[in-house]
Amino acid sequence: MAGTLAEKVWRDHVVRKGTGGEPDLLYIDLHLVHEVTSPQAFEGLRLADRQVRRPDLTIATEDHNTPTLDIDLPIADLTSRTQIETLRRNAEDFGIRLHSLGDADQGIVHAVGPQLGLTQPGLTVVCGDSHTSTHGAFGALAFGIGTSEVEHVLATQTLPLAPFKTMAITVNGELPAGATSKDIILAIIAKIGTGGGQGYVLEYRGEAIRKLSMEARMTICNMSIEAGARAGMIAPDETTFAYLKGRPHAPEGAEWDAAMEYWKTLRTDDDAVFDAEVVLEAADLEPYVTWGTNPGQGLPISGRVPVPEEIADENARVAAERAVEYMDLVPGTPLRDIAVDTVFIGSCTNGRIEDLRSVAKVLKGRTKAENVRVLVVPASARVRLQAEAEGLDQIFLDFGAEWRNAGCSMCLGMNPDQLAPGERAASTSNRNFEGRQGKGGRTHLVSPLVAAATAVRGTLSAVSDLDLAGDVDLTSFDGSPLAPLDPSVPMHV
Ligand code: SF4
Repeated sequence: MAGTLAEKVWRDHVVRKGTGGEPDLLYIDLHLVHEVTSPQAFEGLRLADRQVRRPDLTIATEDHNTPTLDIDLPIADLTSRTQIETLRRNAEDFGIRLHSLGDADQGIVHAVGPQLGLTQPGLTVVCGDSHTSTHGAFGALAFGIGTSEVEHVLATQTLPLAPFKTMAITVNGELPAGATSKDIILAIIAKIGTGGGQGYVLEYRGEAIRKLSMEARMTICNMSIEAGARAGMIAPDETTFAYLKGRPHAPEGAEWDAAMEYWKTLRTDDDAVFDAEVVLEAADLEPYVTWGTNPGQGLPISGRVPVPEEIADENARVAAERAVEYMDLVPGTPLRDIAVDTVFIGSCTNGRIEDLRSVAKVLKGRTKAENVRVLVVPASARVRLQAEAEGLDQIFLDFGAEWRNAGCSMCLGMNPDQLAPGERAASTSNRNFEGRQGKGGRTHLVSPLVAAATAVRGTLSAVSDLDLAGDVDLTSFDGSPLAPLDPSVPMHV
């Protein structure tokens, strides 16, 4: 029977088929855990006197509540300290592998799974975090789940799931210089809206997607949830296999060969039918930035802040009025004229080594705009170590940026890295909701390249606004291969 990629992975994991409107029960291959959504789930297990069914398929890391400075000191904030200590106790009590602050494999949960080779094609991956969709970049079916579902997976290694619809998102052609995978996904969300993917698993296809590196693909799948989708996927190919080969948890020898045989079947059949399809031309894209308070309120950087009175649809008009007011913007202002106080480069969307390399390429030998705070926060400790081995940290420091330890940091106001009320940020993260980066903070979502150019000029900028004097190759940011992890890097730092 012909099937889409998502349908194939689903079928291969059905433990019990739902009847009479009941959901199917699916087997879960990988359960990622962090401190925010797991405490109640573990408490539920304790109350029911249950164990974790498959601790070997469960891995935990600390990310949301961790500070990015002074990580050797006790965590100052009581709530954050309690969350972290609770996770450590739960991991010990239930025999789960945990990567704590100070461990080389600590970091944002969605960076840790892929870099360890735990995230693989054809797996079902869950985590109590909405951006679990990131792992779909490998051809895995990856969902964010709620606390009660976390408990269910811990106890049974299965999850009841209602069926989904499928949407193909085809991006044809080649990206122009200076545009990246972040601009592709911001353009998609601007086109279909924050509810456009509701009930769907998205499959990204087409020449522009195939040409992206694994890290750039992760950026796209990461933000599927911002279009309301249940998950986002990309069929595995040679780029995927090359990324996985040699990773600590990737199969080896005969197991690698057997895995490859299966992985190569993980593509949508030619005669499979999607429930919906969206098509974009990559050549038409330019760097995108958001002006409003949801990820769908984005425009090409050459645009202007919308004038709400000119928006015909009433709901969109009311939303734009509120967003323009919260963001303290004047309708009609060119987006390039918007000055920022902070530039944040990091998060599970754009805190990987390739992102940091692309930022360093732009910042090298340049000077930070006056009165702009620039935070560069690697997604994981391994990314930090690799960046330091390549000398990227020194480029950031010479530029005037702050170089931090790994974590979610200023993606959300759950740790000390926050915007002050009224502060405005260009951020490479994925959510620009009111107060997301700190109470009263204002967020413009951007790509790492736009973040770098903005850090130089102080207003929202594209790299084409800089005098790059031909020293930066604008075509190779997303395509550059990820250097293999150095096996000599100690596991604990
Ligand atoms: S970086 Fe942001 S979006 Fe990603 S897991 Fe952390 S808080 Fe969530």
